[in-house]
Amino acid sequence: MTSTHVDAVVVGGGIVGANCAVQLSRAGLDDIVILERDAPASKASGRAAGNLTIYRHERFGAEASRLGRELYEEYERKYDALTFHRTNSYSIAYSDEGAEHLRSEHESTTIETELLTADELAAREPEFATDNVTGALSFTDAVYTDPKQLTLAAHSVARDEGVALEHQEVCEFDVEGSEIIVQTTTNTYETPNVVVAAGAWTKRLLQRAGTDVALRPRTSQIAILDPPETVDTPMWSAPDLSVYGRSTPEGRVLFGGGTTTPVTDLESFRNRASVPFLRQVGEVAPEILPFLEDATLHDDWAGRVSATPDRYPYIGETEIEGIYVCAGFNGEGISNSPFGARLLADLLVGADPLVDPAAFDPTRYRGNEAFEISDAVQWWADR
Ligand SMILES: Cc1cc2nc3c(=O)[nH]c(=O)nc-3n(C[C@H](O)[C@H](O)[C@H](O)COP(=O)(O)OP(=O)(O)OC[C@H]3O[C@@H](n4cnc5c(N)ncnc54)[C@H](O)[C@@H]3O)c2cc1C
Repeated sequence: MTSTHVDAVVVGGGIVGANCAVQLSRAGLDDIVILERDAPASKASGRAAGNLTIYRHERFGAEASRLGRELYEEYERKYDALTFHRTNSYSIAYSDEGAEHLRSEHESTTIETELLTADELAAREPEFATDNVTGALSFTDAVYTDPKQLTLAAHSVARDEGVALEHQEVCEFDVEGSEIIVQTTTNTYETPNVVVAAGAWTKRLLQRAGTDVALRPRTSQIAILDPPETVDTPMWSAPDLSVYGRSTPEGRVLFGGGTTTPVTDLESFRNRASVPFLRQVGEVAPEILPFLEDATLHDDWAGRVSATPDRYPYIGETEIEGIYVCAGFNGEGISNSPFGARLLADLLVGADPLVDPAAFDPTRYRGNEAFEISDAVQWWADR
């Protein structure tokens, strides 16, 4: 078995690992290797809806969303296979509490938004049923894209900046002074910096290194409906009904959600949507979009993402010096990983952090506490 010395090892070749490698390279590290046990983008990053919520929300601050939009527009320019679909988008409320959330988001965001009544939504988007709508927030320049191509674009940019991608499974970590020895099935790496960005597998890997984070693998699901007639819909989210959706480029309608289901066995995971989720979509689809009354199910799938107790990711150094984590994006890792990766790189090289890192501190929980998984499609409350 050979041993290689590098400046940083990134574990995981999903969107988070690829973006971490890009940001570490731009922060000045020379020798970076991404270790991925399967194909890049073969897990959650290739199964997402690809809605870039940073065009609609500023969950972690205006600067974080802006950085994400700029990075992804750079990828779009550099990578021919990547197409951004730009559409209108709406957050739709079906309760008084939801309408209040929309009002407060409208007042606090720096993104251009318009607050609409149910009648105004009906006038603009007549395909929506609006009898039970209590308000809507309109965004004019929202984006969705193919998440697999976006992840491959991030890998391509990383490769252009000199990052190596190796097809290897990480098995063990040993700390020897200021060096961390990373054992894979075929190689050994010595490095002062390890970034665990392994999505739903992150907790398990950190436990092997002798540390822990409060992180639970959970399921995110998608159903694609075939409507009897093609009606183009914008992107929309309905947190009161725990679903979001949009038209697909092929004229079908995508529904996403179903996020509170824990994943008990990471390896024998079934990549299909669950029956309760499909039933839920069957019920709410015609309530939101009446033209889906006689729609049929065209396809469905599921993927493993990771939940944290407060819905904030873990970004930064663990209690073991030199072992960093970037994970726990709670179903919005495609959108928020550019900011997460940049903050991670800032902290690793000791630069001024993009945002206050305290809210993302990986040691803010003990790691072994029990917690309920919250639905990702719910109203977002600032901490
Ligand atoms: C159905 C669905 C819809 C979604 N929709 C959206 C959306 O519209 N917008 C959005 O922003 N987000 C969305 N998400 C969430 C998003 O997909 C995830 O947050 C994001 O992909 C997480 O990226 P990741 O790199 O952390 O994880 P992953 O893509 O899961 O990558 C982790 C990688 O680590 C590798 N790995 C694990 N163990 C090891 C090991 N021992 N050695 C080496 N490699 C290892 C795995 O093989 C895997 O490739 C959705 C997710 C799903 C499932």
